[in-house]
Amino acid sequence: MPARRLDGTAWAERLRHKLEPRVAAVRRHAGRPPGLAVVLAGTHPPSEIYVRNKIATATAHGCHAVLHRLPETASVDEALVLVRQLNADDTIDGILVQSPLPAGMGTDAESRVFDAVDPSKDIDGFHPVNVGRLVQKRQALVACTPLGCATLLDREEIPLRGRHAVVIGRSDIVGKPMAMLLLHRNATVTICHSRTVDLPAICRTADVLVAAIGRPGFVTPDFVKPGATVIDVGINRVETPEAAGALFAPNTPKRTQFEAKGHVLVGDVHPDVADVAGALTPVPGGVGPLTIAMVLANTVTAAEWRLGLHL
Ligand code: NDP
Repeated sequence: MPARRLDGTAWAERLRHKLEPRVAAVRRHAGRPPGLAVVLAGTHPPSEIYVRNKIATATAHGCHAVLHRLPETASVDEALVLVRQLNADDTIDGILVQSPLPAGMGTDAESRVFDAVDPSKDIDGFHPVNVGRLVQKRQALVACTPLGCATLLDREEIPLRGRHAVVIGRSDIVGKPMAMLLLHRNATVTICHSRTVDLPAICRTADVLVAAIGRPGFVTPDFVKPGATVIDVGINRVETPEAAGALFAPNTPKRTQFEAKGHVLVGDVHPDVADVAGALTPVPGGVGPLTIAMVLANTVTAAEWRLGLHL
């Protein structure tokens, strides 16, 4: 039986609508809507799309959302000046600095700029204060993608207590906070990475498997225990006929899409996993829409906490 599809698009829509009374409460108490500022430095086509979606979603749900652009040639100091202005702006509750920053800003630019964001406005949950608070299971703003995955698991009532959850990937943005959220839900958590020995065997013991790797179709059916829940965080653009052919059989919808457009979006999970897993997030339409919904949710939460509305 094919895996149940965990519909991130539908959940994201429900979650966004549930936020509307909270947006209205912020307006009533503060005399202004929750405010989101997005900083976009340089020209990076995928970032343009992500930023556009985040701004449009926040605006559509009654927030005040502003985009601040910096040129590709901007220095890290210019980015820091902008972040400090936004920290001091009382109409802004959430600040999001879109990654990646231009290479010209230097290798430590992201940590310097992310660290400069006021932790109470850090809706990406990247600031060490929020990371530490998450680890200690205290009130924290949590990174949007893992928060979206955990919310999906909660809403779908996927059992986690005492279950084995395996996270492939140990990035600060996805893998590590994901592991913490699973641990806080009483799962027994294993984090895997590129040096893990016999990755498929470890993954096959997972009741819940989260793939956050960045390699198209990497997780094949031999990684998956029959009936397991698989969360596919990866978003990869497949652009060659060889890669598309290795992933999608002729006359399947994705193969047809590739043949028509010359590219197709693929997760880290191979499509054949749908024959083994019990439940699976699609790509697109799984984790991606939930990430965007969590940007809105975290903006509203940050506004509530800053106003003392939701303690
Ligand atoms: P990173 O590149 O920061 O991390 C990738 C992780 O995968 C690393 O920990 C790496 O291990 C591990 N890895 C790489 N190759 C292997 C391998 N062969 N075996 C086991 N582990 C491996 O990526 P991100 O965490 O930022 O993103 C992961 C994916 O999620 C990407 O496809 C990205 O586009 C997507 N993404 C999707 C979002 C959404 O909204 N849906 C949001 C954010 C990301 P090591 O640490 O040892 O190098």
